[in-house]
Amino acid sequence: MVDILIVGAGTAGLTAAVYGCRAGRSVLVLEELSYGGQIINTPDIENYPGIAHVTGYDFATALFNQAKELGAQVSFENVLSVENLPDKKVVHTNENTYEAKTVILATGVQRRLLGVEREKDLTGSGVSYCATCDGMFYRGKEVVVVGGGNTALEDAAFLANLCSKVTLVHRRDAFRGDETTVENLKARDNVQFLLNSNVTAILGNDRVEGVEVANKVTGEKTTVPAAGLFIAVGQVPDNKRFENLADLSPEGYFVADESCKTRTEGVFVAGDCRTKQYRQLATAASDGAAAALAASAYLG
Ligand code: NAP
Repeated sequence: MVDILIVGAGTAGLTAAVYGCRAGRSVLVLEELSYGGQIINTPDIENYPGIAHVTGYDFATALFNQAKELGAQVSFENVLSVENLPDKKVVHTNENTYEAKTVILATGVQRRLLGVEREKDLTGSGVSYCATCDGMFYRGKEVVVVGGGNTALEDAAFLANLCSKVTLVHRRDAFRGDETTVENLKARDNVQFLLNSNVTAILGNDRVEGVEVANKVTGEKTTVPAAGLFIAVGQVPDNKRFENLADLSPEGYFVADESCKTRTEGVFVAGDCRTKQYRQLATAASDGAAAALAASAYLG
């Protein structure tokens, strides 16, 4: 029986592991994919307090190692369900069944699809959701980035260093992401903005050769030649499996406040998976700390 079982090894989950271990609790982290969560693909983190610059990979690896060195057990398994019994939580994965006194759900979010025809078919053949993973394949070529948040802006900045031209397509005329990054992009010779615009079709047969872009204001359609289409249109939660434990918002986020408590005693939520106004690295870490301390207080 583990004291604190954490679902998810992103920033929130691993921070919870650090705090849980330091509170003297036994901690098991279960993660379906690889450690680090979303931040692992960020080329340069510039807004984490006290760290001027760090790559997402280095940050996540340091946090993972910190949690392990403090005593957290980590296993790569897919959590399918959690049963809430009077005296314990029973956690079923694709490989094992675990028992825990408390559970912290730090499930993060999944990428949102753009929803344009042939997007799925051409994923890996020009369509990508990760500029840092795939950018090198497009060195010296023209690419399109879709989205207006920090991910799209940072992807565009990263790709502008590699590609001959980057066209950033955003559906509004104002960006959701940081103004500083927008200004830096505007100063780049090889970055073009197509605002108030949507990608309406992907061109090319077996590989992406370009996209059709429609201006929402004028209705005009243009063809943008591109070898790659990088989609960064936000994320969606994937929490349905756990709705027996915690209420879900209409968008599918766990309903919880800064206390990270759910309607189920001994079950906490942390990070981007819960309802909150700002989803940042710092707020994910903050949630991880709060959830682990709340779990530890619950254990008494
Ligand atoms: P996001 O902030 O939710 O932005 C998603 C963008 O995609 C928005 O601009 C949205 O347009 C657009 N969009 C959504 N659905 C679309 C559709 N169907 N078609 C076209 N465009 C669509 O997502 P994100 O950029 O992935 O960032 C997620 C969170 O992580 C944010 O809180 C962000 O600040 C944070 N983040 C932080 C950093 C950093 O601090 N270094 C880096 C990356 C991400 P609208 O604006 O019109 O809604």
